[in-house]
Amino acid sequence: MTHPTLAELLEFDRQHLWHPYSSLVNPPPVFAVKSASGTTIQLEDGREVVDAMASWWSVIHGYNHPRLTAALHKQVDALAHVMFGGLTHRPAVELGSKLIEIAPPGLEHLFFSDSGSVAVEVAIKQSLQYWHAQGASRKRKLLTVCGGYHGDTFGAMAVCDPVNGMHGLFTDVLTKHVFADKPAIGFREQWDESAFENIEQTLENNREEIAAVIIEPIVQGAGGMSFYHTEYLRKLRRLCDEHDTLLIFDEIATGFGRTGKLFACEQAAVSPDIMCLGKALTGGYMSLAATLCTHKIAHTISSNEPGVFMHGPTFMANPMACAVALESVNLLLESPWKSAVATIEATLKKGLERCREMPAVKDVRVLGAIGVVELRSPLDMHRVSEMFVQRGVWLRPFGKLVYVMPPYVITTQELQKVIAAIIDVVADPPLLN
Ligand SMILES: *Cc1c(COP(=O)(O)O)cnc(C)c1O
Repeated sequence: MTHPTLAELLEFDRQHLWHPYSSLVNPPPVFAVKSASGTTIQLEDGREVVDAMASWWSVIHGYNHPRLTAALHKQVDALAHVMFGGLTHRPAVELGSKLIEIAPPGLEHLFFSDSGSVAVEVAIKQSLQYWHAQGASRKRKLLTVCGGYHGDTFGAMAVCDPVNGMHGLFTDVLTKHVFADKPAIGFREQWDESAFENIEQTLENNREEIAAVIIEPIVQGAGGMSFYHTEYLRKLRRLCDEHDTLLIFDEIATGFGRTGKLFACEQAAVSPDIMCLGKALTGGYMSLAATLCTHKIAHTISSNEPGVFMHGPTFMANPMACAVALESVNLLLESPWKSAVATIEATLKKGLERCREMPAVKDVRVLGAIGVVELRSPLDMHRVSEMFVQRGVWLRPFGKLVYVMPPYVITTQELQKVIAAIIDVVADPPLLN
C-alpha cells in the first residue's frame, strides 16, 4: 500500500491495526495525525487540535521541540544503537548520573528498560531478589492498594486494581498479591488517622510474606485519577521501615514535575527504596524507562546468590532514547516549569469549577498540571472524541473520567479553549446506555 488516500489509510487501520484497548470488530473512531508541533496536533483531514493529553503524560515540552529534535538528530548520526551487554556510552552514563542527581535521596543505582510496565517488572524482581539474597524465602508477595495502575505486563497486571484495573479477565493466572483499601482521604481533605488502619493491619497480618509495598505516590493515575493525602505516604514510609518491607514508588505518570514537584513523593518529603520512571522521561520522543534503587538493595542483590540481577532487555539504554531523555531533563530543569505548572493548576481550578454544579458531574479535582472531571456515569467513548475534535481539542476520556494533563508549555489561551470544550461537552455528555 503506497501513498494511500486518507480514506484508504483509515480503512486499513480499522481492519488490521490494534489500538490501545480496542476492538477490531467495533473499532473506535481514530483520527490520522499528519504532524504536531508545540501543543498543536495537525490531523490529515486538515483540522488542528490543541493537545490536552501530552500523549499520556509524556510530551511535557510540546511536540517537535527544537532542542529535543536536534539532540536526537545528533545522536542518530553518531550511534543509533548498540548492545548494553559489555558496552556502554555517553548518553547512558550522562543520563544515569543526571537522574541519580535529581532523584529523591538514597536512590543511587539505575536500571534502564524500554517501557513503564517493564520498569515495574524490574522493580518487582529487584524486591524479590533482595529478600532471596538474604535467605528470606517466604517474602514473595507484594502489598498494594486498590485503585492502582502499574502497567499491562503480567507482573504489573498483578498489582493493578483487581476489579477496575482492566485485567479482571486474567485474575486466575496472575500472582495473588495482597491488597489494601484505596487511600480514602483526598489531597486537600482533612487527614483522619483511621484512614491508615486498613493498610497498617493488612501489612501487619501479612508481614512474613510481603517483600515490598508498591504504590503510585499521591496520584492514582489510570486506575481512577484520584489524589490522596501526603500523610498517607509519610505513614506508609514509617510502616515499611517498622516491618522491614521495601517501598516501591511508581512515578511513571507523576515524575518530572506533573504534580508541581519534580517527583510526587516530594509532596510528602519521603523517599522510596525503589522508584520507577517512564512516560515523560524522554519528553515523549521515545520509549524509555528506568528503575532506581538504593545502595543497600543493589549491593544485597549483587553480593549474594545468584550474584547478578536477573534482567537484561535487548534494547537496554538505547543511545537515542538516552540522548533525548538527557536533553529533555535538562530542558525541564532550565525551564520555568514550576511556575508553568502552577499557572496551569490555577487556570484549571478556576475554569473547571463551573462543571461542579452540572447534574452529570460527581467531582472536580485539580493537582498540578492535572485536571479531572468525574461524571456520574460512563461516557460513550466512540462519540466523545469527535465532539472534542470538533471543538478543536484533543482529549481522550475513559469511563467516567474526563481528564487533562497538557504539555507544560500550553498557553493560558489554549488551556481556556480546552476548559471551554470540557464545559460544553460535560453540560450534556454523550453517555453509554
Ligand atoms: C503508564 C503507566 C505505567 C505503564 O507504562 P507503559 O509505558 O505504558 O508500559 C505504569 N505505571 C503507571 C503509574 C503508569 O501511569
